[in-house]
Amino acid sequence: MINILRKTVEGIYNIAIGMFTVLKHVGRSPITSSYPDVVPELFPASRHRLALTVNPDTAEHLCIACKQCERICPDTCITVIGDPEKKGVIKDFYLDHGLCMFCGLCVEVCPTNCIINTVDFEMSEYSREDLIYDIDRLTLTQEQSRFYFDFKEIPKPKPKPVKVPAAATAVPAAATVQEKK
Ligand code: SF4
Ligand code: SF4
Repeated sequence: MINILRKTVEGIYNIAIGMFTVLKHVGRSPITSSYPDVVPELFPASRHRLALTVNPDTAEHLCIACKQCERICPDTCITVIGDPEKKGVIKDFYLDHGLCMFCGLCVEVCPTNCIINTVDFEMSEYSREDLIYDIDRLTLTQEQSRFYFDFKEIPKPKPKPVKVPAAATAVPAAATVQEKK
């Protein structure tokens, strides 16, 4: 009998505690958002899909094929292919988002602010192969690049210096002799 009474009192006590906890939260506004109806606003430093930027003013690709991102990536998910005929020019770029752990090391090491994290986290695909992005899928448009340079407060890149062919700068020998006379 005493046992039954003790269990009844304990049950009522536990229900009262549960109800008290519920009542404490009744007046609070929700802290979750109704995704996907409401897409959350993310911070500039949030790390999601990786992308390559271009100069927002000139549309030049900012990758100089230095391979620093490829070397530092702990997951070996980056493959940089430079143009064999033009030093400092990128030919292709592969990034496996299925392997990436979004550590941000590649972004930190990039000397030209070319590789960045975007705020796009909706990257689901039906196959792992589709998570391997090539240079076309990775490269942002001028407008997208401008948005991220402003959003992340990255200093705007300067246009690449125009290389003048050596023949154009060489002074003809005959002209030099003429000038000396
Ligand atoms: S974020 Fe980290 S894991 Fe992902 S590509 Fe960059 S260095 Fe590799
Ligand atoms: S993305 Fe940056 S670090 Fe990677 S190869 Fe291009 S310039 Fe170098």
